[in-house]
Amino acid sequence: MSHAHEHWSPPARDPDDDSLRLECGVFGVYDTAEASGITALGLHALQHRGQEACGIASFDGQRFHTERHMGYVGDAFGGGDLSKRLPGRHAIGHTRYSTAGGSFLRNVQPMFADLEAGGLALAHNGNLTNFLTLREQLVSEGAIFQSTSDSEAILHLIARSRRPKFLDRFTEALQQLEGGYALVAMTNKKLIGVRDPLGIRPLVLGDLHGRAVFASETCALDMIGATFVRDIEHGEMVVADDKGLRSFRPFPAQQARPCIFEYVYFARPDSVVNGRSIYEVRKRMGRRLAQESLTGIDIDVVVPVPDSGVPAALGFAQEADKPFEMGIIRNHYVGRTFIQPTQGERELGVRMKLAPNRSVLAGKKVLLVDDSIVRGTNSVRVVRMVREAGAAEVHLRSASPPIMWPDYYGIDMPDREKLLAANHTVEEIARILGVDSMGYLSVEGLYWAMDAVRDDAHPQYTDHYFTGDYPTRLLDKEIAEGRNELVERQLSFLVDA
Ligand code: AMP
Repeated sequence: MSHAHEHWSPPARDPDDDSLRLECGVFGVYDTAEASGITALGLHALQHRGQEACGIASFDGQRFHTERHMGYVGDAFGGGDLSKRLPGRHAIGHTRYSTAGGSFLRNVQPMFADLEAGGLALAHNGNLTNFLTLREQLVSEGAIFQSTSDSEAILHLIARSRRPKFLDRFTEALQQLEGGYALVAMTNKKLIGVRDPLGIRPLVLGDLHGRAVFASETCALDMIGATFVRDIEHGEMVVADDKGLRSFRPFPAQQARPCIFEYVYFARPDSVVNGRSIYEVRKRMGRRLAQESLTGIDIDVVVPVPDSGVPAALGFAQEADKPFEMGIIRNHYVGRTFIQPTQGERELGVRMKLAPNRSVLAGKKVLLVDDSIVRGTNSVRVVRMVREAGAAEVHLRSASPPIMWPDYYGIDMPDREKLLAANHTVEEIARILGVDSMGYLSVEGLYWAMDAVRDDAHPQYTDHYFTGDYPTRLLDKEIAEGRNELVERQLSFLVDA
C-alpha cells in the first residue's frame, strides 16, 4: 500500500500549537465476515483524514479486541492475518491526525470502556466545544481520565447516566455535547452512527451485502465494494442490531449546517458529501475564481499547487481557456519519519515534497491555483520555487475565500494571529508572498460553487472560516478567556506523555 496522500501537508502544521483540535476519519461495519479486514480497507481510503495514528476495535460475540497504532493504516493493519488479531463480525475503526501536543498512544482511538451494560468502543471525528467544561465537571465528580481526548468525555457521560437502557444512556450523553462530531460506536449488540445536530462533520450509511456500514466519506464505501445508501442526517442516530436498522432523533430539529471546508480542502475529490461531488464543487470554485479574478492580467499557463489545488486549477483553466500544466511535481514518498515538525525541518519539508517543472515554468506568465491559504508558509515557498525556475510572472489565486477565523469543530486551523488573511490586506499578502497579483474566491462565489446563495439569516453551511459566523456557542473558549487557569490545568496533562 502506498504511503502517499494527496492531502497531506505536514509543513503547514505548527508544532507550537498544542491545541486538541482533531482531524479524523471513522468507519464501522456490522455483522460481516472479516469485519476487521474490511475496516482496515475502509480506513485506508480515509487515510487523508488523519495520518498520525489509527486503530480498530472488533467484537467476536464474546470479547472485544482492539489494536491502536501510531502511523499509517497500511503499516499498522496491512500485513498479517487480521481476522486472527481482531476476530469477529463487527468492527469499528479510526484514523487520526492531531497537532503535536495531543499525539500519544493513549489518545488513539477507538476508545474502549467496560460499562455496567458491557463493553463500548467509540470512534469520534470532530471536536467538542464544551470538552474542557465537561471534563472539569466530570473530574470534580471523581472521573479519572486516561487521555486528553474529548472523546473520552463521551464515554464518561455514558458511564454515568442512570437511565436503564443503553440507547437512552447514549442519548443522554449526546445531549450534553456541543460542537461538531460524527461518532461510530460498537457494543456487544449494536453498531451506532451519529451526526451532530448541525451535521458539521460528515457521516454516510452504506450497504455491504445487506449489512450496515458507516464511514466518514463515500470513498471508503467504494473501497470495500459497498453501495452508498444515504448520508446520516444532521442530528440523527442510526442503530444497527438484530432488530435491523433504526433511526432516532435525539435532538430538537434545526436546519443543517455542514462544514464547507470539507469541500474546500478536507474530503477526497472522489467522495460525495451531503449529495455533492467534492471534485465537481472544486472545479466550480476554480471556474468562478477565473470569472472573478482574471481581469487586468495576461497569463500563459494555469498551474495547480499539487495535489489539493488540482480540481480548482482545472476549472480555472477551462473557464479562462488557458493551458493547464503540471508546473509543480509532487513527491508522493515523503514519509513522516523524514519530516519532524521543527521549523528548520519544515523548511526542508516543502522542498522534499514539491519540485518545480522547469519545462513548463521557464519564461512563462504563470497563474498558480491553490485550494486554500492558511498561514501562507506553503505559498511563500512555492512562489519562490516557481520564480527560481524562471517564471516571467507569478500570479496566485486561492480557490477559497480569505481564511480569517479559526476552527473549533475538528479542522486543524491555527489561531487568528497566525492566519495570513486575518492580519493583512490582499495587497499586503501579494507583497508578503512575492506575487505579481493575488486573488481569492468570494464567499458568494464559494456558495455559487455549491449551487447556493448564502442566506445570511440562516446560513446553509458552517463557514466561519471566512465569515466569523460560528454555528454554535464556543463554551470552552468563552470560559478560557475569562479564566486562563482552566485551560492550563487541563493541558498540563500533556507534558506527562
Ligand atoms: P499554509 O502554508 O498554512 O498557508 O497552508 C496552506 C496549505 O495547507 C494549502 O495548500 C492547503 O492545501 C493545506 N491546508 C489547508 N487547510 C489545512 C488543514 N486544516 N490541515 C492541513 N493542511 C491544510
